[in-house]
Amino acid sequence: MTKNYLKFWGTRGSCSVSGPQYAEFGGNTCALELRYDDLVCIFDAGTGIRELGCELIDQNVKEIHLFLSHSHWDHFIGIPFFDPIYQPGVHITIWAPPNIRRSYRELVSDLLSPEFFPIRLEQVKADLEFKTIQQKTPLALGPLTLDFHSTHHPGLTYGFKIQTPRHTIGYITDNEMLQGHHGPLDHIPEEISDPHQSLIQFFTNCDLLIHEAQYTPEEYLHKTGWGHSSSLNALYLIQQTKTSRWLVTHHDPSHTDLDLHALEADTQKRLSEYKIDCKATWIGDRFVWPIK
Ligand SMILES: [Zn+2]
Ligand SMILES: [Zn+2]
Repeated sequence: MTKNYLKFWGTRGSCSVSGPQYAEFGGNTCALELRYDDLVCIFDAGTGIRELGCELIDQNVKEIHLFLSHSHWDHFIGIPFFDPIYQPGVHITIWAPPNIRRSYRELVSDLLSPEFFPIRLEQVKADLEFKTIQQKTPLALGPLTLDFHSTHHPGLTYGFKIQTPRHTIGYITDNEMLQGHHGPLDHIPEEISDPHQSLIQFFTNCDLLIHEAQYTPEEYLHKTGWGHSSSLNALYLIQQTKTSRWLVTHHDPSHTDLDLHALEADTQKRLSEYKIDCKATWIGDRFVWPIK
């Protein structure tokens, strides 16, 4: 495998799934591995992080940066099953948005409380360091620069902008584009599009954008305000940010492999109808994107 890459260990949103109808795309919730030179970064700690943890132990990785977009279960529940936290000599920095009610240390401690899990936070062997990331406040990590912007989602949720020396990658899993909009993209009232302009500006001209398209436009009629985009409204972000390469993740748990292929085909059709010059790919667990 190439030295620098993204590897998706979980591409399901909301709730993990299992069964033959999900065999192609997979059922683990969000976890994205980024390797760049010697850096090991992980974005989100859904159930996909469990297998990644086993691999990191096999590779004797001692330094890990874990970025959390927010604390909803599908991005958080994997932490107790991430075996590097039980390894002495491992240092894990957990970067998370400011949380107004409870700190992320308290939230992780909650996950490891006696009601939910047999091991306490005080018993883990790795050195866990909790740090806060702030919007539009870039962070330099080796050759990479990371920056953050809030998304349109219940609670404070961050999307990530990762700049390598040669490319810019946007990673946004939970974002309800054009909340409440159910019509075509050429007639969007300003009061619906205005709240998204700052995010659009922030992610404009990324070489690669990873973003959800969780609902069909029909499903979105009944899921408005749930914090996720219809496949049609997601196109607005693609169009406005001038993205030419889009990877679609955070699939709805009700969508089987067949449903996801149908959604992909429908979206490709709409991309050409709107003359949006972008290649979109619905990705599944273990999808690898080499970074040149
Ligand atoms: Zn989610
Ligand atoms: Zn969420």
